[in-house]
Amino acid sequence: PQQRKLMPKQRFLAEFSQCLYDFVIQLLPTPEELAIKEDVRKLLERLIRTLEPDSRLLSFGSTANGFSLRNSDMDLCCLIDSEDRLSASDLVTMLGDLLERETKFHVKPLPFARIPIVKLSLDPSPGLPFGIACDIGFENRLALENTRLLMCYAMIDPARVRTMVLFLKVWCKRRKINSPYKGTLSSYGYVLLVIFFLVHVKNPPVLPNLQQMPPLRPMTKEESHLNGHNVWFFDDINLLRQRWQSTNTESVAELLVDFFRFYSREFPYNTSVVSIRAGILKKDSKGWLSEAERGTARERNRLCIEDPFETDFNVARCVTRDGLYTIRGELMRASRILALRPERPIVALAQLCE
Ligand code: ATP
Ligand code: MG
Repeated sequence: PQQRKLMPKQRFLAEFSQCLYDFVIQLLPTPEELAIKEDVRKLLERLIRTLEPDSRLLSFGSTANGFSLRNSDMDLCCLIDSEDRLSASDLVTMLGDLLERETKFHVKPLPFARIPIVKLSLDPSPGLPFGIACDIGFENRLALENTRLLMCYAMIDPARVRTMVLFLKVWCKRRKINSPYKGTLSSYGYVLLVIFFLVHVKNPPVLPNLQQMPPLRPMTKEESHLNGHNVWFFDDINLLRQRWQSTNTESVAELLVDFFRFYSREFPYNTSVVSIRAGILKKDSKGWLSEAERGTARERNRLCIEDPFETDFNVARCVTRDGLYTIRGELMRASRILALRPERPIVALAQLCE
């Protein structure tokens, strides 16, 4: 094999950062796509209001948190502001029938799922070359809150945070390690890994811990809690921009290289939990590796990522032993590719997402 000289590190990182920005920009949804999605949301809201007049249909997930790629799914949540409302499963069945009659969507109501939803899709058309896929759920107020939390993190340092997250979302999709149904991790899980890394691993940190900053005025439990979970976080981004400035000046490429290094070699998967709220935690202390239910608990808790608000919920509970093995293999592969610092950084990027 030919001997090849490594590209000087600083030059590689500078050029690779530029590559990442250029790559991510062309994957952002177009203004037309966003407008069509907003029209769809309004149309669906109008139809739902014929069943429940006091309802609102809100976007959550990537369409609302700033981490959306072109043609990503739409996550919608229906909130009903009246006291006597239909049950979620009845609503799912009725809404399913209504949409089937009144619209061109393919409709699949799942009234008896753990979280009842209606799944919708539209076939591709000239104005909408990839169609639309959309899930409508009910009363999922915690999801709206965690969407707002991620959006705030994205807004603090959009250049670095959004570029890193969007790149990793493409990477994990192309490398096929983004399917909770097949034992790997959801997009939401990957986003939490990035935020944890930027808040708790990087020193100095790139992001502050929004859930641990002192509130501007005392809060009652009524104000800070939702369904028994503390959902408070510092969400005044304008004020935060004035008061908080990261002293970390690493480029997005440096951060990415270190992200792959940390999660492929350093993070102690067997014993530890990723928590953006509290930093690194031990599985024992959360009862996620208890003797009593070791058999099942262990299989459900191979990879542990604490939900920011529902703290007894492991966002990565679907990740199996094989799934984690594959994910770690991919993280190592990515580390290796970047360590080789190819002469043209675009080649590294192409290889990463092969
Ligand atoms: P994509 O663009 O790939 O759809 P996304 O940012 O919308 O990415 P999803 O994984 O689709 O991420 O999750 C959307 C929302 O659903 C999250 O913001 C979160 O509120 C909720 N969610 C998804 N997966 C989980 C999970 N495992 N546990 C708890 N909430 C989840
Ligand atoms: Mg989504």
